[in-house]
Amino acid sequence: MTNEELQHLAQQWSLAAFGKPLKHPIIFNRRLRTTGGRYHLQDHHIDINPLMYEEFDMANLKRVVLHELCHYHLHLARRGYRHCDADFKRLLAAVGGSRYAPATSRTRVAKPQ
Ligand SMILES: [Zn+2]
Repeated sequence: MTNEELQHLAQQWSLAAFGKPLKHPIIFNRRLRTTGGRYHLQDHHIDINPLMYEEFDMANLKRVVLHELCHYHLHLARRGYRHCDADFKRLLAAVGGSRYAPATSRTRVAKPQ
């Protein structure tokens, strides 16, 4: 899947789940290892771990994108956007985002002590 396809899908999912547009870039970032995605507070763009799609499926990718979009929309609305905030927990449950990204082939590799 290309970044353009990801951007298009995320824009559709954002409108359908939140009723609000995604106006910033969402891109695949292979350097993400332990996380499914990351929302950047400074410039509002979102990174997504490509393994969330490549090692799983579209449904898993969507749950991870919805999780990041919860951070995104709450932060832009100046509401509680952190994992510990009630706003975040409520919105994540409402839109069906994932709480935790599944382990990938990269995260499953045990580190030598
Ligand atoms: Zn998060």
